Amino acid sequence: MLQVADTIELERPQEKLIRRLCSTLSSYLDQAQIDDCIRAYEFGAKAHTGQFRKSGEAYICHPVAVAISLAEMRMDANCIMAAILHDVIEDTGVDKQELAKTFNREVSELVDGVTKLTKIDSKSHAETQAENVRKMFLAMGKDLRVIMVKLADRLHNMQTLGAMPAEKKRRIARETLDIYAPIANRLGMNSIRHKLETLSFQAMYPRRHAILDNALKKARGNRRKIIDVIENTLKNRIKQASMNCDVSGREKNLYSIYQKMLHKKVSLNDVFDVYAFRIFCDNVDDCYRMMGIVHNLYKPIPGRFKDYIAVPKANGYQS
Ligand code: MN
Repeated sequence: MLQVADTIELERPQEKLIRRLCSTLSSYLDQAQIDDCIRAYEFGAKAHTGQFRKSGEAYICHPVAVAISLAEMRMDANCIMAAILHDVIEDTGVDKQELAKTFNREVSELVDGVTKLTKIDSKSHAETQAENVRKMFLAMGKDLRVIMVKLADRLHNMQTLGAMPAEKKRRIARETLDIYAPIANRLGMNSIRHKLETLSFQAMYPRRHAILDNALKKARGNRRKIIDVIENTLKNRIKQASMNCDVSGREKNLYSIYQKMLHKKVSLNDVFDVYAFRIFCDNVDDCYRMMGIVHNLYKPIPGRFKDYIAVPKANGYQS
């Protein structure tokens, strides 16, 4: 028995993560680029040796997790490498020149850019927040990828707040809501924005979050049937009209439901758009035709209907 146990080596968390990263990368990068990312991982792991996250995991787990979120957005190889290396200038003895020499100039510029943003982070008080935002926008003009790494970095830090003192958690969450979530929104990175908002809400108001989360789960159970009926009805009509559209149901983000309840002073039952259906069409004509079909099935509420094709959102979003 003992011998068997000896030969089974448990995979360490960082190995699991790098394997996950490579498998995501393999869906859109070629092998030479993936090899470069692995090289960045080996370099980063070595540089961060002896450093640990608060969770007790090896530090390198954090930058690899950051790289995974960016890989899910299909960011290019240099951006993924920069994500893996994003804390080496700040936290280890490695400098920008060494990164340029070992990898390339672009990677070193990206890491340097993220490091400059990190420096503002650490002194952030209310009065430096304006400065913070200004620097973010300046960095954005130089290379948008710096901000994308920074947002993914913040997301992972929010996901791993753990046992931090409540006061510190609240401060970080406030800053995330004030600065990072709106920037993610501006850039059209909606899934990151929603994750940031929900995590911040949870960190600031753990009880409210738990109660609302519970209520939503219950409501979801109760409404499952009606959601299925609506989805099937939509799909049938699409078929009848022989259009090439796709329907998917989605749940609205917890934080935006909370905001609605708070500002409109309504109960959860009165928040209409807890569930949403998305219909994907190939072109604008189909989209308007589909809208006619939907309005024929279900009456729109006067004053609540928005045409984001004719009037796009501020971030350019159209639907
Ligand atoms: Mn970091």
